[in-house]
Amino acid sequence: MGIAKNEHKRKKSPCVNATQSAYIAPDIRGIGRWRAVIDQNVEPTDLFIIGGGINGCGIARDAAGRGLSVTLAEMNDLASATSSASTKLFHGGLRYLEYFEFRLVREALVEREVLLKAMPHISWPMRFVLPYHEDMRFESDTPTSRLLSFIMPWMKGRRPAWLIRLGLFLYDNLGGRKILPGTKTLALENAPEGVPLDDRFAKAYEYSDCWIEDSRLVVLNARDAEARGATILPRTKVLSAARDGGLWRIETQNTENGETRTHHAKMLVNAGGPWVGDIIQTKVRLNSTEGVRLVRGSHIVTRKLYDHDKCYFFQGTDGRIIFAIPYETDFTLIGTTDAEHDDPSNKPVCTPQEQSYLLNFANQYFKQDLSDKDVVWTYSGVRPLYDDGASSATAATRDYTLKVDANGGAPVLNIFGGKITTYRRLAESALEKIAEQLPNVKGPWTAGVTLPGGDFPVDGFDAQVAKLQDAFPFLDAFWARRLVRAYGTEAPTILGTAKEAGDLGRDFGATLTEAEVHWLMTHEYAHTAEDVVWRRNKLGLRLSAEQIKDLDTWMADHRQSLSKAAE
Ligand SMILES: Cc1cc2nc3c(=O)[nH]c(=O)nc-3n(C[C@H](O)[C@H](O)[C@H](O)COP(=O)(O)OP(=O)(O)OC[C@H]3O[C@@H](n4cnc5c(N)ncnc54)[C@H](O)[C@@H]3O)c2cc1C
Repeated sequence: MGIAKNEHKRKKSPCVNATQSAYIAPDIRGIGRWRAVIDQNVEPTDLFIIGGGINGCGIARDAAGRGLSVTLAEMNDLASATSSASTKLFHGGLRYLEYFEFRLVREALVEREVLLKAMPHISWPMRFVLPYHEDMRFESDTPTSRLLSFIMPWMKGRRPAWLIRLGLFLYDNLGGRKILPGTKTLALENAPEGVPLDDRFAKAYEYSDCWIEDSRLVVLNARDAEARGATILPRTKVLSAARDGGLWRIETQNTENGETRTHHAKMLVNAGGPWVGDIIQTKVRLNSTEGVRLVRGSHIVTRKLYDHDKCYFFQGTDGRIIFAIPYETDFTLIGTTDAEHDDPSNKPVCTPQEQSYLLNFANQYFKQDLSDKDVVWTYSGVRPLYDDGASSATAATRDYTLKVDANGGAPVLNIFGGKITTYRRLAESALEKIAEQLPNVKGPWTAGVTLPGGDFPVDGFDAQVAKLQDAFPFLDAFWARRLVRAYGTEAPTILGTAKEAGDLGRDFGATLTEAEVHWLMTHEYAHTAEDVVWRRNKLGLRLSAEQIKDLDTWMADHRQSLSKAAE
């Protein structure tokens, strides 16, 4: 067992001192941790994971729970790349059925309910309304569209209603659905779901999938990995990794203070997402022909466009689909696009063309005409898809591929593709490969084990909110719901012995208090205001630029106090 395994055994104590606005620093993640890293030179860690997105953190958690010593390095904040920029759905991927991706769809459908039970705070069921109109078309190169144009050429690429019904029938029945309700048909004329839509839509189908708070999923996996002995190193870039006497020698650099370190590991995992190819070519320098295809997807956020809590699944005349989803109580999320992206280091942004595309697409469905002025925020991410030679970005496989290279000594596992939805299964498959290389790896364990704060029933969210408001009557409904969604059963620990809002220290606006920020810095690896307001929560949608700047200044000062306290 390496030193990394002992590093987590720091004392955890209640973080809030209710009588003061200064907090005791009980558990300081990411601060003073280099001491343990230096000691790692003494004994190699079993696994060294590059990348703190969902795949890296999911593998770290699974591996640590199986008794392996694990170190994970993330060059920025956890979930700072693709894993905070998804559409945030645990879904089977209805449209992948047209590509005959039955294995992927089935695995993802089964997985939705496994995940829902393990994290009922950050994931919840959602109903999707798919309005039907005969103009809807296939993308021309799906296997289904090719088959249909062969047997029914008069359809001219149209997606017929019976085919949608067939797809939904498979969707309902492929994945052993127990909790989520099945498909039904809706007459839109007098239904609330029809109100925001253009009058030409008379009929819709309604089916189930789930929401997931993607960046919180990553952080909770990292926390659980650490609680099981892993060392998590955010803001730590891997500069190089080389085989050295049957081990990996890995050079890292702390991206805040520039300090460099050497680590040794028996096996390397490359979970670099969009950088997986860059890591293969320039950091590990493998002689590999495996390729990754970078496909950018952008989303726009508007003020809330309608009053019910269901999502829309819109089919375009170009064969693509987009979603419109109720978001953060007062907003609507619309996405996504598929655009080739050359270089992972070019920060993905929603281009004006992508924004217009999404607005025009949504305008084909909504009564209300949306324009640029309705857009309050955009975000963009890059899908790291395995290059399967598909002609279009939309058609490239969303399935994952795991490749072990053990030529020339210590093994490395490269991860290509994957979805948020299949991260746990991907981690299990990765551990199967790892167990072929390392001795004494225990069996799978993550199905049915809750993430931090998720230890309550799937239908118990409202009861948790009521309980929290009983214990802390100063919380209004928005605040209480927000805290339970983020922290589940851990919310009371953050609030400590507070009797009124003032006991929680400084108020940064939009219900964000010093007590919560302190928790995020000491338990959830947050360092900057951006980490807090765009990844640990989405309060960036509600705070002004000035409020965010004040928060950043406060966090910089607080970091120094925490650092001093740790010395
Ligand atoms: C627009 C869009 C919508 C999506 N919607 C969904 C959805 O609704 N449902 C779903 O299931 N999936 C969805 N996905 C897919 C899903 O988001 C991704 O498959 C998943 O997030 C990939 O995770 P990852 O860990 O592989 O990559 P990432 O999250 O990108 O993590 C890789 C990490 O490696 C780090 N890294 C790279 N190089 C180094 C280095 N040298 N040293 C240290 N760290 C390094 C990076 O900083 C990065 O944080 C969507 C993807 C996109 C782009």
